Amino acid sequence: MAERTLVILKPGALQRGLVGEVISRFEKRGLKLVALKMVRLTDEVLDIHYAHLKDRPFFPWLKNGMKAAPVILCCWEGCEAVKVVREMAGATNARKAVPGTIRGDYSMSAQENIIHTSDSPENAAIELDRFFVPEDYCEYQSVLDPFKYSPDEI
Ligand code: UDP
Ligand code: MG
Repeated sequence: MAERTLVILKPGALQRGLVGEVISRFEKRGLKLVALKMVRLTDEVLDIHYAHLKDRPFFPWLKNGMKAAPVILCCWEGCEAVKVVREMAGATNARKAVPGTIRGDYSMSAQENIIHTSDSPENAAIELDRFFVPEDYCEYQSVLDPFKYSPDEI
């Protein structure tokens, strides 16, 4: 069954010129891009998005890092997309992320770890609603689906 998940390319991805590399990985895997925009995040939205970390000592650094430059917000769609994208991202602490994952290939940091990915289908739905309005989604036929999936997967 098709799922949608949120990916945020963090300020470090933009500044280091990795936006194309990271997006290309999801494209090549076969995920469908259905929404994309570039924004500057605010304290208000970061307080909500990272509410589970608000009592951690690094919270102010995390927020400053996420406000240091614009971010790229994208929504990727595919069969079990939440789990697939999260596994492609790799471990939160990039020094422990397996080579071949995005964090394992492009980062040395537990904080400056290139991307955010939703961690469950439930949170993906909440996070997508946090950053996108219905008009942001572009409907189009993914013409290669029969070459990417069996009939029971889509
Ligand atoms: N983070 C950090 N230090 C930590 C844990 C997390 O700086 O010890 C930052 C890091 O940028 C991470 C974000 O907080 O991506 C959100 O943390 P979470 O535990 O949700 O990890 P994620 O879902 O991003 O892998
Ligand atoms: Mg998380």
